Amino acid sequence: MPLSQYQRSFRMPRHSLYSLSVSLDGRQDEEGNSPQLTPLEQLTTEMCQDEQTIKELVVGHRVGFYKVRGEIGSGTFSRVKMAFHALTKDKVAIKVLDKLRLDVKTQKQLSREISCMEALQHANIVRLYEVVESHNRLYLVLEYAGGGDLHTHICAEGRLPECEAKITFAQILSAINYMHTKNIIHRDLKAENVLYACNGCVKVVDFGFSTVVTNDNDILNTFCGSPTYAAPELFRDDCYLGPPVDVWAMGVLLFFMVTGTMPFRADTMGKLRLAVIEGVFTLPSWVSGPCRRLICGILKPLPAERYVVDQMVGCDWLLSVDYPWTMSLVPFNPMRLADAPLGELSDEEEEIKGTLEELGVTTERIRSNHGKGLRSPINGLYSILLHRAQKGRGAETLPVVKGLVRDHKREGLRAYRGLIHSSKLCALQ
Ligand code: ATP
Ligand code: MG
Repeated sequence: MPLSQYQRSFRMPRHSLYSLSVSLDGRQDEEGNSPQLTPLEQLTTEMCQDEQTIKELVVGHRVGFYKVRGEIGSGTFSRVKMAFHALTKDKVAIKVLDKLRLDVKTQKQLSREISCMEALQHANIVRLYEVVESHNRLYLVLEYAGGGDLHTHICAEGRLPECEAKITFAQILSAINYMHTKNIIHRDLKAENVLYACNGCVKVVDFGFSTVVTNDNDILNTFCGSPTYAAPELFRDDCYLGPPVDVWAMGVLLFFMVTGTMPFRADTMGKLRLAVIEGVFTLPSWVSGPCRRLICGILKPLPAERYVVDQMVGCDWLLSVDYPWTMSLVPFNPMRLADAPLGELSDEEEEIKGTLEELGVTTERIRSNHGKGLRSPINGLYSILLHRAQKGRGAETLPVVKGLVRDHKREGLRAYRGLIHSSKLCALQ
């Protein structure tokens, strides 16, 4: 929500969409005193009238309902900051993009990133809570994943013991399985784009190259992602199918997790292209048979011969993993809180409704935000509470490996400490 809209609401309280304090008009108790403000009224009043708060909004120390803290990361076009929701106190990550720096191609990528993320609700995919826009900036308010990324983790600590790799890989696989059932292809899967939440739960991030297909046979023709994770058909052919490209990247990722090195390496792009097309790689002897078979089933140069996600889910290596490959979560639907008949709300929805009421969000307010999707601070508040309620009901418990025997052996390994794999986008010729 642009700051100017808050300011406008201060000047024209009766008509503004964002003048949440408008509901105070004429509201008095029997003695003629104005009643105590709800937390929401208090916040929006501060945003319109309090000099310090307005200053923070102007200099970017506040974005909409969020109080911004330090920078936690940066990407090609973005800076990522940590922030707190002023009402719920939940920690979030805000990806800040300078609209003036974005060319047409990047703007298209960004709107795909937003629409794909809006469609996804999964324990292992970083949640998009809200989109805030000012005249020169776009802010993506995301679930905070503060446990670092997988690439940095392996570079610092070495390869993962197989039992740990299983727990991480199972979660990535669950996320990709879910995305593909929603016809969304990530196209930039790599260790740098796998983050850990503070509880160790894996979160796939960065949907900048993602795309929606109409079905599994939809032909794509844009080279996306990092060359070291790119499937051979991306180098070889004019066009490709989406799901096998994500599957290949998962094979590279699994190889990296269990060996600490990359399967295809070269010092020039030309040599890398040849290595990937040839598809020859060597697995160290310590990799177990079931893991080896999975990697070999994935890293097949011909997409038609490559494992599909269902085969990966059913492979021997993951047999011992107890994890829900599909999960049903309460869907994003704030209108239900206003319109569902009595007794029809789920426990999670009742909990959200109760918290919203305590904060001062009325059902009228929910209704007036209908159709705005994530571009509304009220729906942003709802999506944070929805996620909180889902987590509270165990939606983000980690996979369990049955009969787990931990392997602490890390010797004989030089961790892959190469360059960060930068991602590219170009049309295939
Ligand atoms: P690039 O295209 O260069 O990969 P990007 O602009 O798409 O970058 P991201 O990869 O989404 O940006 O984020 C950049 C960095 O910010 C990440 O590597 C990570 O360190 C941090 N980051 C991103 N999202 C989150 C999050 N939800 N929680 C915590 N840190 C995050
Ligand atoms: Mg990234």
